[in-house]
Order: sequence, then C-alpha cells, then structure tokens
Amino acid sequence: MSATPRLIYFVAPNQDTLAKIGAQLAFFGFDYRVFDRNSALLAAMHSAQPFAVVLDEHGLNDFSALQCLPLIRRLFEGPIFLASFALDIVKQLEFLRAGVTDFFEYPLNIQALIDRLDHHDEQRNPPPYRILLVDDSEMVAKWAQSVLHGAGMVVKHLADPLQILKRLEADQPDILLLDVYMPQCHGDEIAKVIRQHPQFDSIPIVFLSTETHRGRQLMARSMGGDDFLVKNMEPDELIAAVSITVERYRTLRRWMTRDSLTGLLNHTNLIDALGREVARASKESRQLSYSMIDIDHFKRINDQYGHSVGDLVIKSLSRLLKEFSPNAELVGRYGGEEFAVIWRDHTLIKAAQRTDELRERFNALLQCGHDAQFVASLSAGVAQLIDGMSAQNLIDAADQALYEAKAAGRNQVGLAKR
Ligand code: GH3
Ligand code: MG
Ligand code: MG
Repeated sequence: MSATPRLIYFVAPNQDTLAKIGAQLAFFGFDYRVFDRNSALLAAMHSAQPFAVVLDEHGLNDFSALQCLPLIRRLFEGPIFLASFALDIVKQLEFLRAGVTDFFEYPLNIQALIDRLDHHDEQRNPPPYRILLVDDSEMVAKWAQSVLHGAGMVVKHLADPLQILKRLEADQPDILLLDVYMPQCHGDEIAKVIRQHPQFDSIPIVFLSTETHRGRQLMARSMGGDDFLVKNMEPDELIAAVSITVERYRTLRRWMTRDSLTGLLNHTNLIDALGREVARASKESRQLSYSMIDIDHFKRINDQYGHSVGDLVIKSLSRLLKEFSPNAELVGRYGGEEFAVIWRDHTLIKAAQRTDELRERFNALLQCGHDAQFVASLSAGVAQLIDGMSAQNLIDAADQALYEAKAAGRNQVGLAKR
C-alpha cells in the first residue's frame, strides 16, 4: 500500500494533545487524524497508510510510547516523529532503537515539522537521474543505456557531438557521459567548448573511453572533465560512479541555485529561469504569466515580533508557494520578503486566480510569535507575456501591478494592464 504524502497520523493519550498542531498543518495542505486508542490506530494503518506518524512521548491512553512503537513499526515503514519535553540521551537512544526517526520538543514548531516532512518526502521520491550520453558507437550506447536504465536512470543518446550545446540546453541532464574518440572531434575538445558556457558549469562531464593511459586521462580531465571511466568496466561500477557524481552535483547545484532560508530559486537563478521561459513561450506561442508577491508591512512584523519570527513568516510563505505552484522549479525568492512565481501555460486570469487563492491561504495562517499569534498578509501583481515583451518588461509589468495593489490597500492581487 503506498502512503498518501499529506496524511499524518497523530498518536497521543488524548485527542486534544496534538489536534491543534494538526489544524495548523491543515493550512499547509496536510490531512491528519488523531488516535488515542491502539485498536483504532491499527485499524486505520491497515486501511490508509499515512505519510508520517507523530507520536506523543506518553503514547496512547492504553499503551505507552515504547509499547506502541513495535506495533506501528510492524505495519508502517515511514517516518515516526516523537513529540516530547526534553529527553536525555539514554531515552533518545531507546526511542531511536524502537524506530523513531525524528525528535521534536514541545511546544512543537510547525515550520520545523514541515521542513522534516518535506525532507522525508524528497528523499522518498528523488527524481530519476538524467544522463546524456555522447558516443558514436551504437554498441557502447546500447550497453550503457541498458545498464543505467536498469538502475532507474533516464538515458538519452546523442551520436553527433556537434549537436551537444543544443541538447544540453534542451535536456538539462544531471551528467554528461562523453566518448573520447569520435570521428567529428575528440571528447576533450567538446568538453573545452562546453566549459566556455558558464550556464553548463553545474553539469559534470565524465569521459568514457577504452583509454587506460593515465597521462591521457589526466589531460582529458584538465580540459574540464570531472571523471574518467573505462568502457569495459563492470555494470555495478558504472552505476556507482555515475550515481556518486550525480548526487554530489545535485547537492552542489542546490547550494548554488537555491536561497538558503527558503530552498526557492535565488534571485539570479529566478531571472535566468524567467529568461528561458519567456524564450520558450515566445518560440512555441504558449501562454506565460508571472506573479510578484510581497509580504505586507513586513517591517512591522520584524519590529514587533523580532527578526527570527519574521524569518518564520517568510518560510511559511515559501512553503505555500511550493505547494501552489505547478512547478516548484519556477518559484523564487526575488529578494527579502519578495517572491515570484513563473506560471507556464497560464493566462493572466488563471495565474491571478491561483495567486489570489495563495493570498487567501497565507492570510488564514496563524503565525507564531514567541508569546503571541498573529496573521500576516501579502499583496501581489500578476502580468502575462504578450507579443514582443522581454523578461524585464514582464517583471516591470508585474511590479507595477503589485505597486497598485499596495496603494489600493494591500492584501490583494493586482492585474497588469494590457
Ligand atoms: P510593504 O507593505 O509596503 O511591502 O511594507 P514592508 O514593511 O513589507 O516593506 P519594506 O520594503 O519597507 O520592508 C521590508 C523589510 O523586510 C525590511 C527588511 O528588514 C526585511 N527583511 C528583508 N529580508 C529579510 C529576511 O530575510 N528576514 C527578515 N526577518 N526580514 C527581512
Ligand atoms: Mg518589499
Ligand atoms: Mg513588503
């Protein structure tokens, strides 16, 4: 039975203990159920597997936490969070051995909880590795393709190295496997050309060759390659070598392109993404819209509740943005408390409707200050790409609409004039 990503089971000695935090999670699109009896919990586990279980340190009203854990573990392999007051290390180890994966202290921090849920979700479903293989030999291509495909990777083959720049742009692979000897040119020459284009810096290049001469291997690496694999290696070795390099670069790329507080695209990469999307939409005559979003009176929130609470408000909005956007790769932190969403294939009206739903949801969230709860709001401006517009024109149009939404009283969505 596969788990529903948004269903959380709370296990506590009485229904009220965790219900409040569940209600907060519901604002972020999670479903939850609270169990205080073992029989109900086990029956539910059989009928609908949750994504995660949050267990109070006191367990159920008829079972202690340590008694519950083996029962839960028998039916459920996913994350189990323990919610407790401070635990000493001996107790923690005991819970760890019984199957707890994460520990949270009361009062529960909703953002920390969501961060961990997202983390487990990402780990559970990593997107398959995308490999671009450049080799003139059909036989080598077939071999590498079948090995890597068998390991769950998506492999594309390019026989003509002169098409490489176009294909890198179109396929955005995680890694490039490059033959060294090809009739048109050598792999090390191709690597040198690729390394002239900074937008491909974060794609590792691994040479594939029958060459075992160490000097030649080092020379190829000095041309911008990251690794050198021999063609007659064992399948397991090829899979391991590719996986290690892809993982390392994925982590590196995350750090390079993402904002550290929110995990959204940073300013530079947001603008790059918008440039690409505008070019694509213009070329293929597709709809494209863009929202600029700004938290209202954010300075006051910082002043009143402190900068760290301000950060939590930013995180809560970024979490909602990821949920609302059809493509998490197209959401960015424009700067400070300003965000942007690129809406592929969305008309102005459709993008504005989605943005307004987001505004409403954000306005319904209860934000937690250190000793008070409060509500924040946002304003947004939405613009649609029309013929002849550049990415900068689109940003300016959305920005103007945002400015008008602010002037008209905030907590609303403005539409760019056509
Ligand atoms: P308006 O409704 O007109 O947008 O008013 P505002 O107060 O939200 O806008 P303003 O641009 O005057 O202030 C934005 C504030 O956001 C100023 C800055 O200190 C704060 N800020 C920017 N980045 C961060 C951040 O990462 N964390 C926190 N806590 N505050 C930030
Ligand atoms: Mg601002
Ligand atoms: Mg603001």
